[in-house]
Amino acid sequence: MEHILEDVRRDILPGLTHWQSPRFFAFFPMNASSAGLAGEMLSVGLNVVPFVWAASPAAAELESVVVDWMARLFGLPRRFLFYSGGGGVLQGSTCEAVVCTLAAARDRALGRLGGHEAIARLVVYASDQTHATFQKGARLVGIPPSNFRVIRTSAASGYGLTAEAVRAAVDHDVGLGLVPLYLCATVGTTGLGAVDHVRELGEEARRHGMWVHLDAAYAGSAAICPDFQDYLDGAELADSVSMNPHKWFLTNMDCCCLWVARPRDLTSALSTDPEYLKNVGADDDGAGKAPAAIDYKDWQISMTRRFRAIKLWVILRRYGAAGMRAHIRRHVAAAKWFEQRVAADERFEVVVPRRFSLVCFRLAPRSGRDDDATNHVNRDLLAAVNASGRAFMTHFVVDGKFVIRLAVGGASTELQHVMEVWDLLQGKAAEVLQHYVK
Ligand code: PLP
Repeated sequence: MEHILEDVRRDILPGLTHWQSPRFFAFFPMNASSAGLAGEMLSVGLNVVPFVWAASPAAAELESVVVDWMARLFGLPRRFLFYSGGGGVLQGSTCEAVVCTLAAARDRALGRLGGHEAIARLVVYASDQTHATFQKGARLVGIPPSNFRVIRTSAASGYGLTAEAVRAAVDHDVGLGLVPLYLCATVGTTGLGAVDHVRELGEEARRHGMWVHLDAAYAGSAAICPDFQDYLDGAELADSVSMNPHKWFLTNMDCCCLWVARPRDLTSALSTDPEYLKNVGADDDGAGKAPAAIDYKDWQISMTRRFRAIKLWVILRRYGAAGMRAHIRRHVAAAKWFEQRVAADERFEVVVPRRFSLVCFRLAPRSGRDDDATNHVNRDLLAAVNASGRAFMTHFVVDGKFVIRLAVGGASTELQHVMEVWDLLQGKAAEVLQHYVK
């Protein structure tokens, strides 16, 4: 092992991007913490497999307890809690969660429409800001690519999807004899941190019996603070909700919470019942199983599964709601500080108002109008900052504008690191602008 670890240090570490650096501001954060590491060690060390309840009763039951705790901490509507008839599962990624809910929605609709042939008529809806995994998921469950609607958003709605835009697309499809199946709403989009109008989208979707999924992969963590729970207003109109604790909730990879209002929709699409997985000691009516027993293999794609619940349980025990709120607020405050500096510097502009801990900004067009030169100068600025090795950020493009993203959220990122990156940006901006003037 000593030699192997020496090789890791010499040959592998120098080639890694250090996601846990406090100066990592790219993509979205992938939090790690000492409690997360301890939880992960317990999970991989015990290496139990809670696919059916009897295969590891405490692991299956702890998962149900932990997802209910999380739902309550985020202020999710009761219908997503086990004791109210809903429930949750811990999966590895939002992509898997979306595939599972798409399969559930598809089978529910096909049951209603009377057969598999109707799949050609099912239509799914997303915005131009929805994460690309949704399109992948729709393809995987057999939705014809021509029935995938990408609805445009605009600066006027802060790049959030509005019911009005959805209504126009849905009415058109219904007029063609198509069947609206599924709408993916996002709280905290990947590119810009935009928020879709959940309540009005939910109301619109209900008119057509559409499944509504609420993707809060990144921003869902902020809902631990009551002042951010308004962004989930209308969640009671959704059929499913997901968020990734492994992004911003001090949870080492991997962990995605998926809640559904009607677990039967999910299990109808995903159940298998081979003899070798029957719960030991349970008779045909399920007697012998604990009342709260869940066979989590029926809530996800794979059968074999990790004991993620113990990790999240350790994290919640260790940091508590107050500790988590402080963690989120620290990053939001640092992002706010950065946004204010950008807004006060006339060379720069904030491209979309910040809602969480993501700031989207750029060097403003010198001519006052968007042009290629502005995009080039911003590309050069981002490249110069990243090449310095002192910070790492990524970009997005919206309405043809090249935008730099500063995603604050690393577990060890403090205001001081954000201040340093602002200094770095100002220095590099001066260099890059000088080059363009020449
Ligand atoms: N949805 C949103 C809003 C995201 O930001 C991301 C990843 O950044 C995803 C979905 C995809 O998540 P996963 O990689 O867990 O599938």
